[in-house]
Amino acid sequence: MPGMLYLCATPIGNLGDMTPRVVETLQNVDLIAAEDTRNSIKLLNHFGIRTSMTSYHEYNKVEKADYLVEQMQQGKNVALISDAGTPAISDPGEVLVQKCQERGIAVTSLPGPAACITALTLSGLSSRRFCFEGFLPSDKKEKTQILAELKEESRTIVIYEAPHHLVRTLGELYGALGERRITLCRELTKKFETILPTTIGEALSLYEREEPRGEYVLVVEGKSLRQKEEERQDSWQSMTVEEHMALYEKGGMDQKTAMKQVAKDRGVPKREIYAVIHGPGMH
Ligand code: SAM
Repeated sequence: MPGMLYLCATPIGNLGDMTPRVVETLQNVDLIAAEDTRNSIKLLNHFGIRTSMTSYHEYNKVEKADYLVEQMQQGKNVALISDAGTPAISDPGEVLVQKCQERGIAVTSLPGPAACITALTLSGLSSRRFCFEGFLPSDKKEKTQILAELKEESRTIVIYEAPHHLVRTLGELYGALGERRITLCRELTKKFETILPTTIGEALSLYEREEPRGEYVLVVEGKSLRQKEEERQDSWQSMTVEEHMALYEKGGMDQKTAMKQVAKDRGVPKREIYAVIHGPGMH
């Protein structure tokens, strides 16, 4: 019988958030794969867990995933824990999950703390529709493209960032998205937990004055329908009637509907648009 993989969520700061099911599973599996064994040993000692541990991190994830899958094929049960929070969320866990699926090894997840969800619930921003961006990419070109996509995103956006990159990221968000509401969620579940609902510009000037410390999740308001509408209006204000018509026709509207929409946008009667397109006196 092959063994299986248990994804075990661990606390993001407060040891009281460890679930009894995770403690029991970590005690009973044959091997624990941990992102940072030096960090995780403290957690295991706290809960009296004696199971042997092996490292599984960004720099050995491919070979180590193969090794772990072999162990499971030979009947061993393996638990995966990340440095903190839920494995496979902004950490190398997904590679191991994919390999298990490819090779028919069962995977189950023991839910628990995740910084992104904790932050979202505390943000005061809309949580009905949201997207998780994780860390913005370090590659410049890729980052520019992602920021351009985020500019148009209407769902609430959740972003992870390290304190030493916080000011740079706030600056990039300000440059791409402009002034928006943002909630900075710092040191979640820890002694100095701080929730700061503010704007991107205000957060930027705050952290240019004082050095960011601790771990942060940024929750950014999505683009509102009103902003989208304002931008649409701004974009046609510099256009001729012909260009404005072409904008809708290129988007698939027939001429009659486009004329109606152009007239509505410009707040003029339809016949004025008709006159520009077909010449006066022809309708
Ligand atoms: N797997 C983790 C999870 O479930 O949230 C995330 C791991 S990711 C490598 C680490 C990032 O999560 C940090 O840079 C920070 O953005 C966020 N984070 C983790 N713990 C946090 C905490 N206690 N308070 C605020 N942010 C935290």
